[in-house]
Amino acid sequence: MNVTELARILKITPNDLREKLPKMGFDIGYKAIKIDQKTAQTIMKEWPFLLRKLQTEEAEKAKEERAEMIATGVAPRAIAIPSFISVRDFSALAHLPINKVLAELMKNGVFASMNEKIDFDTASIIGESLDVGVTLDEKNEQENSGKSDKKVEEILSKENQDNLIVRPPVIVVMGHVDHGKTKLLDTIRKTNIAGGEHGGITQHIGAYQAVKNDRLITFIDTPGHEAFTAMRSRGAKIADVAILVVAADDGVQPQTIEAYKIIQAAGLPFIVAINKIDKPTANIDRVKQEMSSKMNLLTEDWGGKIVCAPISALAGTGINELLDLILLTADAEAKNMKANPDAPAIGTVIEARVDKNSGPVASILVQNGTLRLGDQLTLHGNIVGKVRALKAYNGEELKEALPSTPVKILGLKTAPAVGDVLEVGEGERVKGGFNKITSNNFSSAVAKEEGEGADIQKLNLIIKSDVLGSAEAIEESLMKINTEEVKVKILTKGLGNIIEGDIARAEGSSAQIIGFNVKISPQIETLIREKGVKVHTFNIIYDLIEYVREEMQKIITPKVQRQEIGRLKVLAIFKTENRSQVVGGKVLEGQVKNNVRVEVLKNKVMVAQGKITKLQAGKVDVSYVEKDQECGLQYEGKPIIEKDDILQFFEEKEIAGKL
Ligand code: GDP
Repeated sequence: MNVTELARILKITPNDLREKLPKMGFDIGYKAIKIDQKTAQTIMKEWPFLLRKLQTEEAEKAKEERAEMIATGVAPRAIAIPSFISVRDFSALAHLPINKVLAELMKNGVFASMNEKIDFDTASIIGESLDVGVTLDEKNEQENSGKSDKKVEEILSKENQDNLIVRPPVIVVMGHVDHGKTKLLDTIRKTNIAGGEHGGITQHIGAYQAVKNDRLITFIDTPGHEAFTAMRSRGAKIADVAILVVAADDGVQPQTIEAYKIIQAAGLPFIVAINKIDKPTANIDRVKQEMSSKMNLLTEDWGGKIVCAPISALAGTGINELLDLILLTADAEAKNMKANPDAPAIGTVIEARVDKNSGPVASILVQNGTLRLGDQLTLHGNIVGKVRALKAYNGEELKEALPSTPVKILGLKTAPAVGDVLEVGEGERVKGGFNKITSNNFSSAVAKEEGEGADIQKLNLIIKSDVLGSAEAIEESLMKINTEEVKVKILTKGLGNIIEGDIARAEGSSAQIIGFNVKISPQIETLIREKGVKVHTFNIIYDLIEYVREEMQKIITPKVQRQEIGRLKVLAIFKTENRSQVVGGKVLEGQVKNNVRVEVLKNKVMVAQGKITKLQAGKVDVSYVEKDQECGLQYEGKPIIEKDDILQFFEEKEIAGKL
């Protein structure tokens, strides 16, 4: 039997078969064309078993090699990475071949190219399978979280004042446990609900809006200062006014003081709500006295400036007055409560979780701009999803959300962390989507912005020249050809011929030696060959510069360019298997090619990526099919293609980076 015939039956390539058989104990030779019938029969019969055995052996071997590398310190046991990392950087850090990482990603349904970023959760899952512990680089995260500090304020300060409108104030409720924060939020929600006429079911989305005197007030509806601190963890300003709740029967308690300190640190204007005044044991004066003695806060009636509202959240007493006071306090801050509804939206995550059915769900408080259906969301410049649905707290489906509106959004690829600042705009693609809940991981999930110099490649050089003047001229010319991506680094400039010390230095610092008008002795030639150091000599500066430019060109990271090829509408599903499907459809645009990558689109939303491994027109294998023709194709990837879905075909080409 021909090897190609056997390979076809076993559904692998002939070369692959020739490579695998010796490892399985069939020594047929690397160039074999034929294989005897008996051996072929045995191979066919035992193929699944043989394949599994080989895979296990290879996996074992790889594991051993890895263990050895870890034991000898060549590869790290664990790595600390930022929340988003490119496949290339991840592979380098973990000391793993890029192909292996890409293959592992693919096994998990993530089709990434090496320059694309993956999220932390994805990286840790991949790490687990590849025997590398992955932790979050907290230090890096904190440095980065500092960067988003005051992001919203920064944007607003740059806005033209004429474009700004007054937005509803955002209120946060804090105080000691059991002093009635939740009850107060409930009572306000029930009695002053905004948009109640929509008749939707009120849902907890982390915040709601109430109406008082025809004005909207937004309440953050997760009481307590831990939540508030989490929301502010990225430094974003999320509330305008705080209500410090103190129970009239219990007075100032440790958490009252803690909450006050947080309010003070955030620079928030606040109102003290003395709650539970319906209780027989209530003592308002005692509360005021404790406020003065324990927190140095004097209320207005005691000659100070602190605004105080006696209320009963249970009975609803004093709630109207409290809301009036909130509006008054907000008015005094009106200049800070403006936003531009025409800007791209930006907002802070106030809640995030993963829903069994809907996937990652996050509530965000829109702080500037208008958030609309279909908007692309980014987190530190990395694309994290698209707004597929916008829901208000009263269950109403919205098309857009203005500043100070809390909304629940669907369409994120992963759950962000509370406090993350999401922005609408262009961004870099991130692969992933393992959807681990990070909402209570307050300090995680901020994308790493590239630190200074992190991405710059360097070409290390040692320069030897005849006279000092020429060395300086060379250095000057070389500095001019530096680019953003790759720079020349001159380790030393020396005079005279190339000597042994230069070779040792070059070897130790992965540098090349560039000589100008200098000579290389035969002994040094031998040493150069032995050590494998790159040494080049020139007599013309122009040639030298051109050579260095070419070397720089070689080390620039190639860029991956995506080329859309065509689109097809799925008309029928013929077969669905674990990781593949056979479908038929009609080419709408461009052409369909075999062996290209594909995205599955449902209602314009990409739901999976895969690869085309077989293409047929009229039952004949073809390599491409043109527009308006019908064809059948085998798709490998998550088998979720349905009739009427659109398949988008594309190729990714690596193009050498340009200086
Ligand atoms: P939180 O821990 O601050 O959120 O406190 P809760 O809102 O859960 O209230 C704690 C307890 O105090 C609950 O049993 C409430 O029913 C009760 N409570 C809250 N406000 C009042 C009030 O104004 N009067 C009375 N009598 N009880 C209240």
